Amino acid sequence: MSSINYERLQGKLNILADAAKYDVSCSSSGSNRKNQGGALGDASKSGICHSYTEDGRCVSLLKILLTNHCIYDCAYCTSRRSNDTPRAAFTVEEVVELTMQFYRRNYIEGLFLSSGIFKDADHTMERLVEVAKLLRTRERFNGYIHLKTIPGASKELLYQAGLYADRLSANIEIPTKSGLALLAPEKDHAQLQAPMQTVKEEIITIKESRKKHKSAPKFTPAGQTSQMIVGASNETDLQVIQLSSHFYQKYNLKRVYYSGYVPMLSDSRLPAIGTPVPMVRENRLYQADWLMRFYGFGAHEIVEPDQPFLDLECDPKLAWAIRHREHFPVNIQHAPYESILRIPGIGVKTAKKIIKARKFNQITLEHLKKMGAAVNRAKFFIATTGKNEHLAHLTKDNFRQFVLSHTQTKFNDQRNGQLSLF
Ligand code: SF4
Repeated sequence: MSSINYERLQGKLNILADAAKYDVSCSSSGSNRKNQGGALGDASKSGICHSYTEDGRCVSLLKILLTNHCIYDCAYCTSRRSNDTPRAAFTVEEVVELTMQFYRRNYIEGLFLSSGIFKDADHTMERLVEVAKLLRTRERFNGYIHLKTIPGASKELLYQAGLYADRLSANIEIPTKSGLALLAPEKDHAQLQAPMQTVKEEIITIKESRKKHKSAPKFTPAGQTSQMIVGASNETDLQVIQLSSHFYQKYNLKRVYYSGYVPMLSDSRLPAIGTPVPMVRENRLYQADWLMRFYGFGAHEIVEPDQPFLDLECDPKLAWAIRHREHFPVNIQHAPYESILRIPGIGVKTAKKIIKARKFNQITLEHLKKMGAAVNRAKFFIATTGKNEHLAHLTKDNFRQFVLSHTQTKFNDQRNGQLSLF
């Protein structure tokens, strides 16, 4: 019989779910943990996050902090020790119980568990690991588990965490060293990146041993991620994108998440309360990230030092194409796949379809439309007989204006404001 007091638990849940909602690194995609006989849950069906808080954050998982008590005082965080806010802490058993109850009721597909740092890093990490361990071994929970790694936690605890969790994440929070020094002087980038290095090494070691011994344990099968807050300090998009690129290359991260800073705390180091959340910027950063991961773009191509912020009026691929007209128009009948992929309005699937279809047909704009291309954008960058010749005479600025005025974009009326997510 459970000895848990559900009334008290509800109070804690209100505080600790609310405190967790600003962490956006909670996508549950990427795991293929299958159900096993007699076990409960199946992370392979979880898919991506599917519900959102009012401010657009995804909360499809049971997304909570173990505690919002914290010995640190990071300016941008509602859990910081100097913030006068209601505090709470779950016991390990309470988180296990809640997860199982919610899962059985079909409210959630998994658990996203982070925490403030109480006492010290190992003390906190030990408890996060214990939750995951009890869920897997005692409760036979087979749903998705995402654990936050605590900077400064021992390698042994990170190893244990990876044995039970589908995904681990280490948040870098503020993208520049100077920004972090200003807003969280007790932390530094090296300390925050250390868990990424440990987790990467373990992933490689365990992959190697699984090649030799099939029975070797899995280790964080959905990989590791990180999150950056944008707009809390004065970082440029160039710095953000360069850091993400570094993370992908050095630590093999699966994803970097970008979280537009939500001003809730009064602090002269931060944007004032009421400053709009930079949602369009956040969206552009995700698009830029996508270009690095799936379109073969280097960080240096997406944002250039003489213009270190992304263009809020058009997506980064269109912005790159407008800046680099020397690569256009592309003859889609003969150009290599990589060049076709760089045409605005043509995605990975469409580029592949073009490569197949052009063996048999002369590809027209009509064909492109049927293949799923955004022809309203693509048509300015494709060699079609005679139609685009007049554009060659336009200056860069006039070309940009011409393309934007002929391109429908959902951002046209909301360039500097909050996006509607629904
Ligand atoms: S260590 Fe984490 S929980 Fe604590 S104040 Fe900093 S960001 Fe918030």
